[in-house]
Amino acid sequence: MIRRRRTSIEVKSASQIVAMRAAGLVVADILTRLTEAGQAGVTTAELDALARERIAAAGAVSSFLGYGSSFGLPPFPAVTCISVNDEIVHGIPGERVLADGDLVSVDFGVSLNGWHADSAVTFGVGTLSAELSDLSETTRTAMWDGLAAAKVGGRIGDISHAVETSVRRRGAGYGVVAEYTGHGIGRAMHEPPDVPNVGRAGRGEVIGPGTCLAIEPMVTLGTAATANLDDEWTVVTRDGTASAHWEHTVAVLPDGLWVLTAADGGEAELGARGVQFAPLAG
Ligand code: MG
Ligand code: MG
Repeated sequence: MIRRRRTSIEVKSASQIVAMRAAGLVVADILTRLTEAGQAGVTTAELDALARERIAAAGAVSSFLGYGSSFGLPPFPAVTCISVNDEIVHGIPGERVLADGDLVSVDFGVSLNGWHADSAVTFGVGTLSAELSDLSETTRTAMWDGLAAAKVGGRIGDISHAVETSVRRRGAGYGVVAEYTGHGIGRAMHEPPDVPNVGRAGRGEVIGPGTCLAIEPMVTLGTAATANLDDEWTVVTRDGTASAHWEHTVAVLPDGLWVLTAADGGEAELGARGVQFAPLAG
């Protein structure tokens, strides 16, 4: 009998990861444009329209539009999820007008030549309160700490633990949302495994070389309890406090990490954490 160490995670070849990087750069570019365009007086539908234009210009396909029908949800009607203030994730763009002081999370994904990339940013409109600014920075830092904890031979729980402890380090008052998780990614936007934002190190699936993961903490100013709006998509905090969401797609490689949706591939933030940056040659 042959015993092999197995993982449920599909690993990608170098050329497949290079293809995912191309999708990741499209996502990075469009999220930068959306962040710049997210000014007071703009509607979330206008931001979504801008994203649609740029997807078409890039020859890409939205990962979000129509999503959900295969598991009984109304098909998602937009190419971005835009979640404002107490909305955590999956906000539907519409007539809402962004106002000074709003905290806006934009989640965005495309496929290019059949390979997906998924990322999210949070930004303030006009002048953000210190409390909201700290919330976003706490979430962004937790995402990078989670990314930095991914390594070949490590486990998914190492990432979960790193995200959770990163948030706790910055303050006891934050809620780390546990009902929604990161995920594997590749030919589909969502692949096994789930990547929870809370958990214990040393637990969960083993990470093999070529594993691609989307790591995406959602953090609130109150409790982690969530509720769904009647549109069946928008997830809000049950206590009405604000929430932030950051996400990147990363390839875990034998020599280090390549953050496929970061413009610099993660070089700066990984370097600051002493983690090897390992881009592949196209
Ligand atoms: Mg996403
Ligand atoms: Mg995701």
